[in-house]
Amino acid sequence: MTLTPMMKQYMEVKEKYKDYILFFRLGDFYEMFFDDAKTAARELELVLTGRDCGMEERAPMCGIPYHAANSYVGRLINKGYKIAICEQLEDPALAKGIVKRGIIKLVTPGTYTDSTFLEENKNNYIMCLYIDKNNNSALCFADVSTGEFNCTDTPFNLPIILDEISKYNPKEILIQKNIDHSALNEIKEFFNGSFTKLDEDYFSGDTEKILREQFTDFNPKKYKFETIKCCGSLLKYIHETQKANFSHINKFQYYNVVDYLTIDGNSRRNLEITEGLRENKKRGSLLWVIDKTNTAMGGRQLRRWLEQPLMDRNKIIERLDSVEELSSNISYHEDLKEALKNIYDIERLVGKISSKSVNAKDLNFLKNSIEKIPDVKSILSHFKTNLLKNMYENLDELKDIYSLIDGSILENPSISLKEGNLIKEGYNKKIDELKGIKIHGKDWIAALEHRERDITKIKSLKIGYNKVFGYYIEITKSNLNLVPEGRYIRKQTLSNAERYITPELKEMEDKILGAEDKLISLEYNTFIEIRDTIEKEVHRMQSSAEIISQVDCLSSLAKVAVENNYCKPEMTLSNKISIKEGRHPVVEKMIPSGDFISNNANMDTSENQLLLITGPNMAGKSTYMRQVALIVIMAQIGSFVPAKSASISICDKIFTRIGASDDLASGKSTFMVEMWEVSNILKNATNKSLILLDEVGRGTSTYDGLSIAWAVIEYICKNNKLKSKTLFATHYHELTKLEGRIQGVKNYSVSVKESENNIVFLRKIIRGGADQSYGIEVAKLAGLPEEVLKRAREILCSLENEKSNNSLHNKKTSFKNSNDEEDNKTLKKEENIKLDRQLGFSDIKKETLVKEIKNIDILNMTPMDGFNKLYDIIKRAKSI
Ligand code: ATP
Repeated sequence: MTLTPMMKQYMEVKEKYKDYILFFRLGDFYEMFFDDAKTAARELELVLTGRDCGMEERAPMCGIPYHAANSYVGRLINKGYKIAICEQLEDPALAKGIVKRGIIKLVTPGTYTDSTFLEENKNNYIMCLYIDKNNNSALCFADVSTGEFNCTDTPFNLPIILDEISKYNPKEILIQKNIDHSALNEIKEFFNGSFTKLDEDYFSGDTEKILREQFTDFNPKKYKFETIKCCGSLLKYIHETQKANFSHINKFQYYNVVDYLTIDGNSRRNLEITEGLRENKKRGSLLWVIDKTNTAMGGRQLRRWLEQPLMDRNKIIERLDSVEELSSNISYHEDLKEALKNIYDIERLVGKISSKSVNAKDLNFLKNSIEKIPDVKSILSHFKTNLLKNMYENLDELKDIYSLIDGSILENPSISLKEGNLIKEGYNKKIDELKGIKIHGKDWIAALEHRERDITKIKSLKIGYNKVFGYYIEITKSNLNLVPEGRYIRKQTLSNAERYITPELKEMEDKILGAEDKLISLEYNTFIEIRDTIEKEVHRMQSSAEIISQVDCLSSLAKVAVENNYCKPEMTLSNKISIKEGRHPVVEKMIPSGDFISNNANMDTSENQLLLITGPNMAGKSTYMRQVALIVIMAQIGSFVPAKSASISICDKIFTRIGASDDLASGKSTFMVEMWEVSNILKNATNKSLILLDEVGRGTSTYDGLSIAWAVIEYICKNNKLKSKTLFATHYHELTKLEGRIQGVKNYSVSVKESENNIVFLRKIIRGGADQSYGIEVAKLAGLPEEVLKRAREILCSLENEKSNNSLHNKKTSFKNSNDEEDNKTLKKEENIKLDRQLGFSDIKKETLVKEIKNIDILNMTPMDGFNKLYDIIKRAKSI
């Protein structure tokens, strides 16, 4: 059993690209074999066939026409696959033996650049993570379609790495093969895109050289060893997969994680910053409300702003001032929006120029976009605020590039570069001459057809053309008797006609076809020259694109501020947040206009550090907490905020523990996830952080939950390392007692109106704790059967009676109102003892111990194990 030569060649290539679906070019098709064929047939709904390959069984096979490859590649990439494209490297007609084939490109989710399949308003990042032996780590993120290249480093810290992953949301992650398993598993749980594992050797090449060659001003002394390895390796991977060097990747941007507001992945999801929770789509998110950008570049920039809110007060104020100026100059702002509307995605067009995949139509899109830049610049000249003034001064109108394209590329050129029809008349003399010959030749043929009809009197005589015979004279069978003897040379016989040639027709044919071939190749070469000339100006085009995208973002924020009646926040230096009549930017858009009830928020790090919010289900507690966080985020990207007035101090981190999200796939229960998140918050929050805790403790038994919630509040308020501004929503009304006992805790509740077993939500946050949950009333609103509701009321009643016998509650009022310090101390002590009794900690311990004793499998224990167990039981029994 020997493989056919073609299959042998296939196997050799496939061996090197095991992780890829191999597109193997055979004639006009890319064929896939074996498992690749099965996968592609399933994912692309192709017919799976087979092919003799020299083995006992036929090789499973499926194929796609080569000219339609892009769309199939796009579909596979979007499903997370990687594709290796294997081309015929020589003309099959000229090849001796088996045609030479080789890989010309590796397409991976993170390096994919086809704009037809990329989301317009989203970057397509590839990320590399490198961790060295001393646990120093570096992260690098690049977008090959736009040329963005960012990196940072940090002592290895998984939460920080996960935060960065959630910020950039890459499509592909490059990682060392031997990375610590638990770290890899954590990352895998978090990120469901494509992983590419690389050998340690991959990172030990000359990464510094690669970076120096790519970035002209790269200074290796400024960066850590791990950063250079990480970035150089990512660049190497890009070069290897794309089989090209890209001039548009030319700005090495290093950032510090702490330069931006930290929002962990869960909080990003919970706060619905760029995606709504319900559909995982932009709709229902903050981005959905504030994105009124007019260009794709602006759309991507605004998303980046939201993903990386600023910490630098001056930069925030600069943005806010510009938004204010734009929103108060309605007429100029309208003109600006109009000008921006006609600007295409210059960033990705520049990417196409640099990757040499640009066509003539793309260059016209670039020209049409550049045409609008002078309008943008002239409008910007009217503004006075720093940011807009700088943009005006630095905006390059790229007039030379406009003139070059305008003077050379046809208005409606071919998409293919190999068919001619690209270059305008007057740009290149030789092209004009060849076009003249072509046109003249065609006129000559038309005249010949006319003359021959006159001479032969055959009205239906026509001159045609095909690729095999060239030009010919065609005469139908019924007219053959009219053909003068010896006038034509017979070339081909059809069923109803004869085809002829003449020497002079063939002579002209040589001229026309020669001119056509020459023209196609000259037009192609001229186009490449134009493209290469433009490529030299990549920097300038990128800089203009960057300015335009920023103008577009500021314009979008100004438009939203006016339309939604937002206010300019004051960025204060005191560590306080004060919001008057604040609203939730997304919820107010989802309900009828004017129905949203605004609320104030006052928080600091002393008296109003932790706002404890009680109130019925559905009253609006979560909405209120989220709106405070969203207002802070909006302020820190430089946006106006939904409030009457707001004074915001810059936050360093926002944490949320909202909603029940279990993670069964990773083996974590709802409660476990909740505790994991709370623990992360307590370890990382500072006195500049904002924490949102919604019903902490509800995932376990009431008393355990209450105790945990209590202890968490104490920790946040008393631990000097934290003292974070906190919003804490809870149904544990017992916690309202903490106001006055723990400095910084303030009770708030959401007001409702009661009327005969029914409640009306007033949505106003008022001072003081709520004393009822109204859970049964809310359940009634949700349509729970009357029988169940009735029974629930009975149970509630008996539980409350039981509770009222407890002295803890008898003393509740006196405790709350007591001002005497001594009195308070005694009460506190008493209460702790009673709380312990009420919680029944010792009962729980007893119960656990009994359960454990019952489960001892004595027959399967060694005497030594048995003795140890007994010793342990006695010790624990003594402690109860
Ligand atoms: P639960 O305790 O059951 O989680 P909750 O108190 O957190 O409930 P939310 O989820 O915040 O309640 O609010 C419920 C709904 O009430 C929201 O979806 C929104 O439609 C409406 N709502 C909340 N706040 C307001 C408000 N200020 N103005 C108008 N409608 C509001």
